[in-house]
Amino acid sequence: MKTTRRTFVIQSVLGAGALASMGAAQAAMVDEKDPQATALSYVADASKSPKAKPGQACEHCALFQGKAGDAAGACALFAGKQVAAKGWCSAFAKKA
Ligand code: SF4
Repeated sequence: MKTTRRTFVIQSVLGAGALASMGAAQAAMVDEKDPQATALSYVADASKSPKAKPGQACEHCALFQGKAGDAAGACALFAGKQVAAKGWCSAFAKKA
């Protein structure tokens, strides 16, 4: 009985840890030095890119999948990662 309960507790802790790491992996931000990010001139702060025009930012891009007000969200071009709402890349396409 004691062993069963102990095993259950250990499995629960391991399961919670696995779920937590899955959540963390899902929330990983795109690194500006990532090869794909470099190829697209991605920056986490649009104001720091000489190529971004005023008003252009991920939060106003058609490919941004975050909700209004989110600090970050998924982008169709960076599968499994998140881009900053204030970020920018050369594939920017204004939201309709
Ligand atoms: S495609 Fe749009 S949402 Fe994705 S990184 Fe570029 S500007 Fe941001």
